[in-house]
This record gives sequence, C-alpha cells and structure tokens, in this order.
Amino acid sequence: MKVIKTNKALRGKLAFLRSQGKSIGFVPTMGAFHEGHVSLMRRCVKENDITVVSLFVNPLQFGPREDLARYPRNLKRDIEMASAVNVDFLFVPSLQEIYPEPLSTFVQVGKIGNILCGASRPGHFQGVATVVLKLLNIVQPCVIYLGQKDAQQVAVIKRMIFDLNIPVSVVICPTSREADGLAMSSRNIYLSPTERRDAVVLNKALRMGARLIAFGERDGGKIISKIKKLILEGSSASIDYVSIVEISGFAPVRRISKDVLIVIAVKFGTTRLIDNVIVKVHGK
Ligand code: AMP
Repeated sequence: MKVIKTNKALRGKLAFLRSQGKSIGFVPTMGAFHEGHVSLMRRCVKENDITVVSLFVNPLQFGPREDLARYPRNLKRDIEMASAVNVDFLFVPSLQEIYPEPLSTFVQVGKIGNILCGASRPGHFQGVATVVLKLLNIVQPCVIYLGQKDAQQVAVIKRMIFDLNIPVSVVICPTSREADGLAMSSRNIYLSPTERRDAVVLNKALRMGARLIAFGERDGGKIISKIKKLILEGSSASIDYVSIVEISGFAPVRRISKDVLIVIAVKFGTTRLIDNVIVKVHGK
C-alpha cells in the first residue's frame, strides 16, 4: 500500500492505472479505523482492481462547538489496518492540500440535509457533500463505498450524485456492530464505562421498533413513543431525535405502508451517537 499526501501524486498514479483499464473503487473516511471502515475496504478490494481510501478529518463538517480538535487520530494504526486488507492507496492529504484557499463554492444540500442530523448540526451535510465532491473529483472512481450506519449521509450523497450527474455508482455496506449490538463508531471511545454499557439501548430500541412493525403496528407515533420510553428508562441518555422516515427521501412517515428507516440520535454525556435500522414491510 502506498500512502499518498498530494492531489497531484494521486492523480498521476490513478490516471496511469485508468489508462490501463483498471477499475477504481473509493472509500472516503475520517480515520480512527474500526471494523466498520475495514468492512468497506474489504468489499472495495474484492470488487475493484484498485482501492483508494481517503483519510481526512474535514473541518467543514464540524460545528464550532463540536469535537474537531479532539477527534481521534491514529495514523500509524490506520496505515497498518488498511495495508492488512490490501488497500492500494491511502490518501492522507493535509488541510492545505484540500483547502488551499477558503472556499467560495459549496454544495447546497437542500431539505434532505437540513432535517434530523442536519437540524442538530447546521452546515454538517453541506460540509460533507462539498468534501465528498472534491474527493470524487480528485479520485474519479467508478464506485464509492458508504456505510448504512450514516443513513442520512448516504441519502445526501446519493441525491448529490443524482442531481449533479456525477459519474460514479454507490455501494452501501451494512453496519458493523460490537458483540452486544452497539454500532461501531470512532466516537465510541469517548464513552465512559457506564455510558458504554447504557449505549447498548440504541440497538435494543431499534430492534424493538422493527419488531413492533413486524407484528403489524403501523402507527409511527406509537412506535416512536415506545422507543423513546425504552431509551430513557434504563439509561443516562438524552434523546436528540427518534424518527421514522422514507428510505431514500427521508420524508417523515406517520402511517407505515412501505419499507421505512427508523433513525435515532442520542447523547450519552457529551457523546452523540447515531444508529438506524431498515424495516421491510410485508403485506403492505
Ligand atoms: P467516518 O470515518 O466516520 O467518516 O466513516 C467513513 C465511512 O465508514 C462512512 O461511509 C461510514 O458510514 C462508514 N462507517 C462508519 N461506521 C461504520 C460501521 N459501524 N459499519 C459500517 N460502516 C461504517
């Protein structure tokens, strides 16, 4: 695996490989790798001739009071983990390389990026979409690999790719979880031992919601109330949102008649965690 720091060096290498007809797959990340990141890399390596992973902690997607300064960083370990699954290029650009000048142009994400996480984190999805578009232009992959864990991010990026005719296909990979069901996240290391124990309730609550739908409950409001109750009962959590939405458009669903996504964002102490589950509706 080659670790590459500049756009120019990466573009040069990829232009040559592209001219040889090689397919290029791309996994954008912010580093501090865990099994979730690695599952995306493995799939990309399996499905493409060349795998490019980017590692860039993007300031544009952090709010002024968020965790940019203390976001976990461990380049040495990340290099070992990516190299162990045969990634070809790990692209680790500096801030200066990605933002040589303050930006004058941004991707405006519209409603889909301004609800739920977008409402709690103003500007977050504009920052995500803008850096992903820049990275897509640098790497020019055939395929981009994204995690279902960040369901709203998936919806925003898919919509950007559709709206702006970006020539790339999207592969969504399932959420990797710890043995007790907690979705893996670089931010899980912020949790105290008690918060870590309490955080299991997220997955439990989502599974309960899915079960209610499977047993025929169609009233979104009732399901949301039960999920909130379960989360608040046995934990120190404070709920940011619990919502049931359409899978691609993220429009809220009151009466469930087709497949939906249950999405939640919950704070344990100062750590904000998100999770979601896709629920298939049979006998619609
Ligand atoms: P991040 O480094 O948090 O920006 O994540 C980089 C990519 O990994 C994104 O597409 C995430 O959705 C994905 N990802 C993060 N956590 C998980 C997980 N637990 N399972 C699968 N994919 C994940």
